[in-house]
Amino acid sequence: MFPAPFEYHRANSLEEALELLARFEGDAKLLAGGHSLIPTMKLRLNTPAHVIDIRNIPGFAEIRRSGDQLIIGGGTPHAAIEKSAEVQRSASALAHAAAVIGDPQVRNMGTIGGSLAHAEPAADYPAAVLAYDAQIVAVSAEGERTIPAGEFFVDLFTTALEEGEIIKEIRFPVDGDTVRSAYLKFPHPASRFAVVGCAVRLTMDGNTCTDARVAFTGVAATAFRDEGVEQDLIGKTLDDAAIKAAAQQAAENDELEFMEDHFASEAYRKHLAKVYAERAICTALGR
Ligand SMILES: Cc1cc2nc3c(=O)[nH]c(=O)nc-3n(C[C@H](O)[C@H](O)[C@H](O)COP(=O)(O)OP(=O)(O)OC[C@H]3O[C@@H](n4cnc5c(N)ncnc54)[C@H](O)[C@@H]3O)c2cc1C
Repeated sequence: MFPAPFEYHRANSLEEALELLARFEGDAKLLAGGHSLIPTMKLRLNTPAHVIDIRNIPGFAEIRRSGDQLIIGGGTPHAAIEKSAEVQRSASALAHAAAVIGDPQVRNMGTIGGSLAHAEPAADYPAAVLAYDAQIVAVSAEGERTIPAGEFFVDLFTTALEEGEIIKEIRFPVDGDTVRSAYLKFPHPASRFAVVGCAVRLTMDGNTCTDARVAFTGVAATAFRDEGVEQDLIGKTLDDAAIKAAAQQAAENDELEFMEDHFASEAYRKHLAKVYAERAICTALGR
């Protein structure tokens, strides 16, 4: 399978990429790791006349700490996030999510910006990004704006990004001494995407949970925070019974529109959400 013909451009700076996007107005696609874009071009689901390679932009794949924020460049490959000691220390659930994406080839090429922009419903990062209430920084010819994770995932393969915007970086609050976080997924046996993935970020005062963020991917058209589980954790002493009871609230929101396919029915996904909520909470708490 071959993509439709296109013209290749290599951008050496974000400014150059923005200028090219503006010049080809709606007829250009950014190329980061290419692990979602190229397959869709081969299937002719995407037929851009221009492809703008953003893989070589200096500083675009940087991971840095700034005060109580962890800042990850939009062009950072999954493998760099997985292996970064700073990410492991400052945002464990994010490191866990990066480590279980696809296989080593996918993790070496694919980038966090590409994954978030693609908004595949079974991708791993969206759950982690929501559990952290991360801020997605988008840059365009008009300037920069920050999109809260809770407003970013709009629908299946649809985000709040506008035409001509590039994800420059993603900002995560750092896990402090009282925060415990984890991401776990049940991977599809063939694709490795999440059938169900769960990210949790708990703030603890001793054994008592004072704040909880629990987010799922793979269950519905977009990743989502599960307030049912969160509310059942907050204020509780997290013993085995309390964790199990809270996890049973997972995916019980009547407004959820479950994904269903030949591999996983609605009932199976709902069951997995409860199982993986419990496992992710236990992993975060080191049990
Ligand atoms: C075999 C296989 C297995 C996989 N398994 C998993 C998995 O288990 N879990 C998982 O989460 N993902 C999985 N993926 C997807 C993988 O993580 C992709 O790398 C990722 O979804 C896209 O990132 P990319 O850098 O390759 O983006 P690209 O494919 O280059 O681009 C994807 C889209 O995002 C746009 N884009 C790219 N960068 C930016 C940016 N900075 N700002 C704005 N728009 C941008 C592009 O124009 C394009 O529309 C898998 C992919 C493959 C091929």
